[in-house]
Amino acid sequence: MYDVIIIGAGSMGMAAGYYLTESGQTVALIDAFDPPHEEGSHHGETRLIRHAYGEGSSYVPLALHAQRLWESLEKKTNERIFAKTGVLNFGPKDNIFLETVKKSAEEYLLPLEVMTAKDINQRWPGFQLDKDAIGYFEKSSGVLFSENAIRTYRMLAEKNGADLYMNRFVQSIKTSTEQITVKLENEAVVGTKLLIAAGKRTNQVTKLLNIKLPLIPLRKTFSWMTAAKNSLYKEGRFPAWGYDDGNSTYYGFPDINEKGLKIGRHDGGRLLDDPRVLERFGTYPEDEQEVVDFTHKHLLKNIELKEGKVCTYTNTPDEDFIIDYLPEYENIMVACGFSGHGFKFASGIGECLANMLMGKQPAVSLESFRLSRFDDSI
Ligand SMILES: Cc1cc2nc3c(=O)[nH]c(=O)nc-3n(C[C@H](O)[C@H](O)[C@H](O)COP(=O)(O)OP(=O)(O)OC[C@H]3O[C@@H](n4cnc5c(N)ncnc54)[C@H](O)[C@@H]3O)c2cc1C
Repeated sequence: MYDVIIIGAGSMGMAAGYYLTESGQTVALIDAFDPPHEEGSHHGETRLIRHAYGEGSSYVPLALHAQRLWESLEKKTNERIFAKTGVLNFGPKDNIFLETVKKSAEEYLLPLEVMTAKDINQRWPGFQLDKDAIGYFEKSSGVLFSENAIRTYRMLAEKNGADLYMNRFVQSIKTSTEQITVKLENEAVVGTKLLIAAGKRTNQVTKLLNIKLPLIPLRKTFSWMTAAKNSLYKEGRFPAWGYDDGNSTYYGFPDINEKGLKIGRHDGGRLLDDPRVLERFGTYPEDEQEVVDFTHKHLLKNIELKEGKVCTYTNTPDEDFIIDYLPEYENIMVACGFSGHGFKFASGIGECLANMLMGKQPAVSLESFRLSRFDDSI
């Protein structure tokens, strides 16, 4: 019998699995695919990590804790997990997101450089920002290599003795106060505790327990672009960035390993009736048009689309996460609804989940992600 069974060994599940095995727990990691892969929310190689958080200053302690854990993962394994490119948040003055970035930095004494459009265009000539734009540059944050991080956690968890059940579909979950039995097609996995972290398909798993969570899967796209003046955008010369004007939010990465500039739109996206079906990139005109228009307005004109991909966000109604025990179960936790901004926290959340599943206090409080805030809709 395992101490913990994890259904969904992606960003959060694999991290939790690793931290549990580091504490000597026996762990079964079950996944419908073979992570890292392109069927969830973690592909596309890179994710931003920001500390002065525009979504709310309450996220800052978790972001800083996660940053420390990413750096120690990199040190332990010599794998490339984090690139300190710095992150520039920019947009028109008096916008709520940028105000919250500033407030987060002030509250937690984070270093943040205030920049005018002129400063930005001069330091990074790959930008051509309107004169009324402002920016906040955080030089200690940057880019995480998401697929490599999951690969690394997987390698370490296996080394520590975790059993991996990959490409397996869960048929049923039977529970009692003493044990949980997860039935796969040809085998049963038995454990004391269960963590469900199945990303966009979490409700397909909780349905087996007659529970529906308030999750909204969205089809999202992202693109790699090539610029005529590509040297301006190389890692080391160009920062990672986020843009918010109150109506739309975009994010981007410097050109890392000659792959091209990576750009995506954070808000919007199309509702997915069936999270298993993702229409390919280019199905809708906006897939290409939005990022091309954005780059031509805020970066340089001679930039073209090279490649686009589709991915999924799993949003909650308030876009904050869900990390909690399932109602009426003292031995089943769920971690989901990461609403397009969860990856940066995966190390910290994985470690906190591991502690909670062992009956210990998490290093950072996850109280604000309790399910009870949606009591009326469960
Ligand atoms: C295009 C894009 C850009 C993003 N950019 C950023 C960013 O810059 N910074 C940031 O912090 N975050 C970003 N995010 C968000 C972040 O990547 C996600 O919040 C995070 O990856 C979610 O982790 P997860 O563990 O919930 O999902 P996943 O990593 O998808 O893991 C879920 C796992 O569950 C498995 N699974 C599903 N169903 C079952 C089942 N029935 N049985 C067993 N296993 C199952 C899946 O195969 C998968 O491996 C972005 C997301 C996207 C899509």
